[in-house]
Amino acid sequence: EAFLARIERLDGELNSYITVCREEALRDADAADARRAAGKAAPLTGVPMAIKDIFCTEGVRTSCGSKMLDNFISPYDATVIEKLRAEGVVMLGKTNLDEFAMGSSNENSYYGAVKNPWDLTAVPGGSSGGSAAAVAAGLAPAALGTDTGGSIRQPAAFCGITGLKPTYGRVSRYGMIAYASSLDQGGPMARSAEDCARLMNVIAGADPRDSTSVVRSVPNYIEGLNYNLKGLKIGLPKEYFGEGLSAEVESSVRAAIKVFEDAGASVQEISLPHTHLAIPTYYVIAPAEASSNLSRYDGVRFGHRCADPKDLEDLYKRTREEGFGDEVKRRILIGTHTLSEGFFDAYYIKAQKVRRLIRQDFLDAFDQVDVLMGPAAPTPAFDLGAHKDPLSMYLQDLYTIAINLAGIPGISVPAGLAGRRPVGLQILGPHFGEQTLLGVAHQFQ
Ligand code: GLN
Repeated sequence: EAFLARIERLDGELNSYITVCREEALRDADAADARRAAGKAAPLTGVPMAIKDIFCTEGVRTSCGSKMLDNFISPYDATVIEKLRAEGVVMLGKTNLDEFAMGSSNENSYYGAVKNPWDLTAVPGGSSGGSAAAVAAGLAPAALGTDTGGSIRQPAAFCGITGLKPTYGRVSRYGMIAYASSLDQGGPMARSAEDCARLMNVIAGADPRDSTSVVRSVPNYIEGLNYNLKGLKIGLPKEYFGEGLSAEVESSVRAAIKVFEDAGASVQEISLPHTHLAIPTYYVIAPAEASSNLSRYDGVRFGHRCADPKDLEDLYKRTREEGFGDEVKRRILIGTHTLSEGFFDAYYIKAQKVRRLIRQDFLDAFDQVDVLMGPAAPTPAFDLGAHKDPLSMYLQDLYTIAINLAGIPGISVPAGLAGRRPVGLQILGPHFGEQTLLGVAHQFQ
C-alpha cells in the first residue's frame, strides 16, 4: 500500500510505470501475508517489485513500449516472472522502456518519456528507464530490467542505483520479448548489490524452455557478498578513459577506484584494443537480429492490426507503418539491408568476426586481472531532448555495448554525483563472475 500510494502521488510526473497492478498487488500481498503466517515464507515473499514491460506477464498487458503491443495480454508468464511469483514476490506494475528496448534515454517509448527523479529535466537513461526511475524514486524497492547493449547498467548509473547485467545465458530469456537474441539478457536493478544478489538467487539458472540458457550450478550470491578486497587485481581499460569521457564522470570514477586501492586491491592499466569497433559491430548485429525478430508483428497473430485491410500486403504494410515508431523502423531498415544478399558478407559476417575479436580482448584481459573498472557512461544523465540525432545517441553506449558482444557480466554501482546527477562505476568480470562482481560492489556500499 505504501508503494502504491507513492506511485499515485509521484508517477503522474515521472511516468515510470506503463501499467500499475493495484488490485493484483494487494491480493498477492495478502496471499504473501498468509504464507508468512503459515510459516512457509521464502526469502522474498511479500517483497514488491516493478517489472520492465518487456517480460510477459499472464493476464497483465505487456506492451514493450510499443503501439504494436498496446493491446497485448500474454497468455503465459516469462520464466523469471514464474520464478518470482513462486517466491511470493508482489508485482506492483510494468515499467516504461524505449520501444522494443531500442534506445538509451527512454524517449523512444510510445507511452512517453520518463523523467529522472534526481533532476526532472534529465533523462533516466534507457532502455530500462522506467525500472531505474521507479527504484530511484522509491516507487519500488527493486525491479527487473534487460540489457542488450547497456540497458540495465546505463539507466542504473543515471538514476544512482545498482544494476547487474548477468552473463549471457545465466538468466532465462523465455517470455522476454526479443530485441537482439544473441545479446539480450535480463537482470536485477535495485538499491544495492546485496538486493541484486537476493534477486539473482531467485532468477538465475538453466531453463529447458530457453536453449541458450546455460546448464551450470547457481551459487548462493548472498554467500559471495563477504568479499576480501586484499589482493584483488583491478584492470583499468585505457580505452574507457579516453576521448568523450566527461571530466566530472572521470573524477568520480577514479575516486571510487581509489577506495578499492586503499582497501588493498592493486590497479593496473589494461588495453581492450578493439573497443573502437564495438559500436559499429553492435549496430550491424543488433538491427539484423531485431529485423528478424520483429517480422512476427504482422497484424495476423497478435498485437496491433490496421483497420479494413484491402489484402494481405496492405495488412502487413499498414499494420507495421502504424504500429512501429521511428527508431524501430530505422533498425528494421538497417537490419534488412545488412542481411540482404550482396551485403550479408560485407556487413553481417564481418561484424561476427569482429565480435569474436572483441570477446577475445576481454578473455585476454581476464588472464591478467580479476575485474575491470571504468565508467558506465561517458556523461551523467543528459537533458531530455539533448540527443535528437540517432548517431549521437548511439555513441552514449561506448562503455557498455562491448560487454554484450562478449557475453560477460557487468554491474553499475553508484559512485557519487556530478552536480545533481548520479555517476555510475562499472565493474566487469569474466563469464559467470557475477558472484565476484556483487561481492566487490558490496564492499563499496
Ligand atoms: N542503447 C542500446 C540500443 O539502443 C542498447 C539498448 C539495450 O540494451 N536494450 O540498442
